[in-house]
Amino acid sequence: MRASVADLYGCATPADLAAETFENYRTYLNPPLARVMKLSGSPVEVYAEGCTIVDQTGKAYLDFAGGYGVFTLGHRHPRVVAAVRDQLERMALSGRTMFNPLMGRLAKRLAEITPGDLTISFFANSGTEAVEGALKLARAATKRTRIVTTEGAYHGKTIGALSASGREAFRAPFAPLLDGIVHVPFGETAQLAQVLDGAAAFIVEPIQGEGGVHVPPPGYLRAVREACDRTGALFIADEVQTGLGRCGALFACDRDGVVPDVMTLAKGLSGGVMPIGAYIARPAVWNAAYGKAPLLHTSTFGGNELACAAALAALGVLVEDDLARNAAERGNELLAAARLVQAQYPAVIAAVRGAGLLVGVELTHEGYGGAIIPELLKRGVTAAWTLNAQRVIRLEPPLIATSAQIARAMEAFAAAVGAAFEMLGTLGTDEAHGTPRTDEAHGTPRTNEAHETPRTNEAHETPRTNEAHGMPRTKKAHGTPKTGEAHGTPKTGEAHGTP
Ligand code: PMP
Repeated sequence: MRASVADLYGCATPADLAAETFENYRTYLNPPLARVMKLSGSPVEVYAEGCTIVDQTGKAYLDFAGGYGVFTLGHRHPRVVAAVRDQLERMALSGRTMFNPLMGRLAKRLAEITPGDLTISFFANSGTEAVEGALKLARAATKRTRIVTTEGAYHGKTIGALSASGREAFRAPFAPLLDGIVHVPFGETAQLAQVLDGAAAFIVEPIQGEGGVHVPPPGYLRAVREACDRTGALFIADEVQTGLGRCGALFACDRDGVVPDVMTLAKGLSGGVMPIGAYIARPAVWNAAYGKAPLLHTSTFGGNELACAAALAALGVLVEDDLARNAAERGNELLAAARLVQAQYPAVIAAVRGAGLLVGVELTHEGYGGAIIPELLKRGVTAAWTLNAQRVIRLEPPLIATSAQIARAMEAFAAAVGAAFEMLGTLGTDEAHGTPRTDEAHGTPRTNEAHETPRTNEAHETPRTNEAHGMPRTKKAHGTPKTGEAHGTPKTGEAHGTP
């Protein structure tokens, strides 16, 4: 592992690099976030490889936050890095006026590995853009406007995706959001067909990630599929976090054997080397929206050569190394280890749940998290909050994690939970599960959440809004080219009231 003066980005000492970076954050990026990160002892990342991030002092951390699901192949997988380097010598970004061979190949590869007749891709640069694209596609294809989504959902922070998300604290400052958005409980289907009547789409995460890692009952997605078929609403599966092996299957939809009409992907798509997002749609849906209007939805950077080269290499590693299987096996170890810690500290941990290498640890009281995450960091392991449920810590290591790394991280986790319990004693149970609390009373600054949503009570800088709201595959074998409608349950455009 490289960790030398060369990693200090031109600074003379680690302290200089830390001071410069903090000042830049405080002055030029995000003052309250800078303070929260500093209070929680956040170091400066200077180097990463595999499951490890190295800080400015040369200390190595097992990355169990995993970039919130980005680092499926760990940091800088050599095959992906080589593909990007190679491409950099030819062409970096698309000139946009000519055909781009890698974008074509990546779209073909995605059509081969995604379920059913998901065939036509659009490439963007992030998860939220993939979701925006999917929502627009649904409205254009169905000529309907209403979007049904789930309570607790996280689909991104651009206006459309935010409208479809579930956490009021993130939404309220930007009201009014999109009209015609309806939230229904996640995991329930009793009233779904009724709500979907006349709707353009139902957007849902196959496993709710940022909502606190909620795994729906088996058969949920099949019931969603049926309700969509009955009403002509499109089924958008947001697999930005759950897809590409994360949950122990290549796609979390595979767990129920369903084919959505549109699937969104991002985070792990390039294995953690280049930003890229995508949606992939059934041809009838795509044609209904854009068959006669190819430029209605476009992106300057989306599908650029570097991102596509990275994604093609990453998909190769993902499938050839069967990382979904490793995620399933290591995920079972991670769940079992987390449950042992829960058994040891029932006053601190209320629940442990997850699938594959997406595991959520729900605390009995939000106050513990502000101690556990820094204690974990001290012991050389990163972890993160879930963005919509502040009592849930997520453990989301790379899919290449080994049993030894899981064991080491969980040993540190047990010690960190023990230290938090020793420090804070019994805090009691927060009344409403999953409901964010505001008090910082325990003197334990919030940490990882800070990377996206600093919790500070410095109201003049970041006014707090009312927190109280707040493997069976159906079609394509991996690598098997598509042969047409014969797979799964082909849908026709008519079902959506479009040609
Ligand atoms: N959808 C889901 C399910 C996500 O988990 C996220 C990010 N956590 C997004 C969309 C948004 O992705 P991004 O941050 O890349 O915009």
